[in-house]
Amino acid sequence: MQFHVITLFPEMFESPFRGGIVGRAIEQRIIELHVHALRPFGLGNYRQVDDAPYGGGSGMVMRPEPIAAAIDYVIERHPGLWKILMSPQGEVFSHAIARDLASRPQGLLLIAGRYEGIDERVRSLVDQEISIGDYVLSGGELPAMVVIEAVARLVPGVIGNPDSLAEESFASEGLEYPQYTRPEEFRGMRVPEVLQSGDHAKVREWREAEARKRTIQRRPDLLGGHKRSRG
Ligand code: SAM
Repeated sequence: MQFHVITLFPEMFESPFRGGIVGRAIEQRIIELHVHALRPFGLGNYRQVDDAPYGGGSGMVMRPEPIAAAIDYVIERHPGLWKILMSPQGEVFSHAIARDLASRPQGLLLIAGRYEGIDERVRSLVDQEISIGDYVLSGGELPAMVVIEAVARLVPGVIGNPDSLAEESFASEGLEYPQYTRPEEFRGMRVPEVLQSGDHAKVREWREAEARKRTIQRRPDLLGGHKRSRG
């Protein structure tokens, strides 16, 4: 699967995807990451990409022409990419959206904004706007990385053991069960006996019950209709 990004700060994408699961998937060519600098598409000798807002106000706004030219450049070479504008005003990102994006065979083109935002008319050039949460960051680069990381994990072959994806939080309707590793006792807290019993059916039952309890306690909204329990 291909991921393309349009950004004023291409260097920001270097180290986060050099290692780890996504880095390995890039090395193995299961996914491709292409980062396109916006600056060369800027206007005039200074490659200007922003301007003062019509109607006045603080800060600068990204002009539409450089972004449109960058989108055209990428789409001419990679037709069919699903175009996403990173925006605090977009749909709030979720596992369901990540799953939908992972199923888009042509790949994704993510556009990272900067400054006070992007000229409104750019919205007509994209297929979707995505926010990573109800707060404002200085740029769309970190949001684009969040989307790439979450979607890439769902691309077949990226995670070695697909069973681990099925059990993760949000994969079904709730949060994952509590995890333990060595030591058996840490600061007086012991690993639950059942996990050391070797009885796989009992372990599965315990995990399902714990996952449900935890979801009801912490995120009843994920279950729909469940009330928050005490304790
Ligand atoms: N003035 C804009 C507003 O109030 O909606 C915010 C602009 S923000 C400072 C600059 C850029 O950062 C945005 O164009 C967007 O690409 C990115 N950005 C900031 N917060 C984001 C979020 N929560 N999710 C996705 N992108 C975000």
